[in-house]
Amino acid sequence: MNVKRTRFLSWFVMIVLLFTMSLPAGALAKGPQQSNDEVAYGTEGMVATAHPAASEIGAEVLRKGGTAMDAAIAIQLALNVAEPMMSGIGGGGFMMVYDANEDDVSIIDSRERAPAGATPDMFLDENGNVIPFSERHISGDAVGVPGTLKGLMTAHEEWGTQPFNQLINPAIKLAQKGVEVNDVLADAIEDNQYELGRSAAKDVFMPNGEPLQEGELLVQEDLANTFKEIRKSGLDAFYGGEIGQALADTVQEFGGSMTSQDLANYELSIDEPVTGTYRGYEIVSMSPPSSGGLTVLQMLKMLEGFDFSEYDARSPEKYHLLAEAMHLAYADRNAYIGDTQFVDVPMEGMLNEEYLAERASLIEFGQANENVEPGDPWAYQDGAPEATVNEEDDREIGETTHFSVADKWGNHVSYTTTIEQVFGSGIMVPEYGFMLNNEITDFSAVPGGPNQVEPNKRPMSSMTPTMVFEDGEPFMTLGSPGGPTIITSVLQTLVNVIDYDMELKDAIEEPRIYSASYPQIRWEEGIPTDVRDTMEEWGHEWQSSPVEIGNVQAIKILEDGTYKGAADSSRAGTAVGLDKTAGKPLKK
Ligand code: GLU
Repeated sequence: MNVKRTRFLSWFVMIVLLFTMSLPAGALAKGPQQSNDEVAYGTEGMVATAHPAASEIGAEVLRKGGTAMDAAIAIQLALNVAEPMMSGIGGGGFMMVYDANEDDVSIIDSRERAPAGATPDMFLDENGNVIPFSERHISGDAVGVPGTLKGLMTAHEEWGTQPFNQLINPAIKLAQKGVEVNDVLADAIEDNQYELGRSAAKDVFMPNGEPLQEGELLVQEDLANTFKEIRKSGLDAFYGGEIGQALADTVQEFGGSMTSQDLANYELSIDEPVTGTYRGYEIVSMSPPSSGGLTVLQMLKMLEGFDFSEYDARSPEKYHLLAEAMHLAYADRNAYIGDTQFVDVPMEGMLNEEYLAERASLIEFGQANENVEPGDPWAYQDGAPEATVNEEDDREIGETTHFSVADKWGNHVSYTTTIEQVFGSGIMVPEYGFMLNNEITDFSAVPGGPNQVEPNKRPMSSMTPTMVFEDGEPFMTLGSPGGPTIITSVLQTLVNVIDYDMELKDAIEEPRIYSASYPQIRWEEGIPTDVRDTMEEWGHEWQSSPVEIGNVQAIKILEDGTYKGAADSSRAGTAVGLDKTAGKPLKK
């Protein structure tokens, strides 16, 4: 071989090697489920959302010197445009904020509330039977008084550093210019044609009567004008003003009771998170009216007594432990949780370690527990026992959106935001271009339990924005959509990172299960047949085919302080990292 050529080749190999070594571990790793868009590194900030346009808008806010909160506000408004079927000003959510200066976590709780005219039996027909979910979730009665805009404005007052106008402008531009319909949105429109066909949503998502297809442009002039009105008139336009009036009129047209007074009366709350520990990490999660935090903390504490290192990440033992812990925790969740502004929830008892050890003792290897009943957490705390429990109904699993943001000052935002089902109630406010939630169907349709419908009350949620701390420092920020499956997606991501030491993206992509009660297990592709067969011998039942569960967007702080962001591959998830050196060529 020609010497010159050999020398050139060895130099070339060395440069490639050096270049490879200079990249963070995993940066070049590519599998069928891994793309560079879904994983990013940054020393100066990180954004992970389910849509590239929203991630880019959030990253741009950070680049211009905005905080994680500034970025989160811009992202939510952009998601209303780019993922209009998942969240927006017609819905509500839980925004968890870590304020690095104060070293404190708080939650802006903009959960929807039932209107004043709501009643416990509003989802029963004249014979006292529950109105089927397919009907009740698209009625005006399903629409809760939206909190998202008030949440954003309140968060902005508290933590925002950039003018609100600047944060809403990118969403306005995006709505006017148009967003390319991706496969997730195209499928959502295709699957919801009936629901969308009943309101102004029809003309937006099915122009000329045909559902928009992947690759087509979704232009939302009305939504852009609504955002402009908000930019001009602020909160009042919505809560008590013209937008609120149009919203209430629309709800009434669809048989609901909401009035513009309900909007004017809407109050959000600033909540304290629930906290617990898992193998030395501090887990900070969402308190009621969400069941997310209590349930994930219960499951983690029950699992802490088992040593996962003895079992492979895809072993029958691991999935059995998860399923059994889920059954026990969901039994309590379904029985005891409701809006703490209305009912007493035995939060202390539910998180009592002795109580959870007693519950965990019901988990046995080799046999699924067939008779899981709620425990008695009231025995572990003072207070009057609630005699009532929530009754089962035919609620269906929704799918909305979660995103995580971190900035160069170490502030984090973990925000799960929703209109409940995909496209919510399917009802759009005409001429204002935004979808209305169906969050009221998150209440129990059967009167009597802690989660029964009551005026002004917030329905029990499963949203689980979560932050993990190690030795008092932020370690991880995560969350997921997916209705009741949310809590188990967060649980499994945590177990994969903490117990299995998986890198973040792998922890997210690892196949998940969901099983709220014995014996059916919902599962993701990738769980080996022999694992499923063994578990069947132990009494579990697998649903006939795999489905996607949740959509986790997370940020982990690596040992040198670098942020690693990872977005779930089940949508167009995009992580964008900010670096001082970003964009600079490698050569000087
Ligand atoms: N409505 C659901 C809840 O609050 C949220 C649905 C979702 O985020 O996927 O639990």
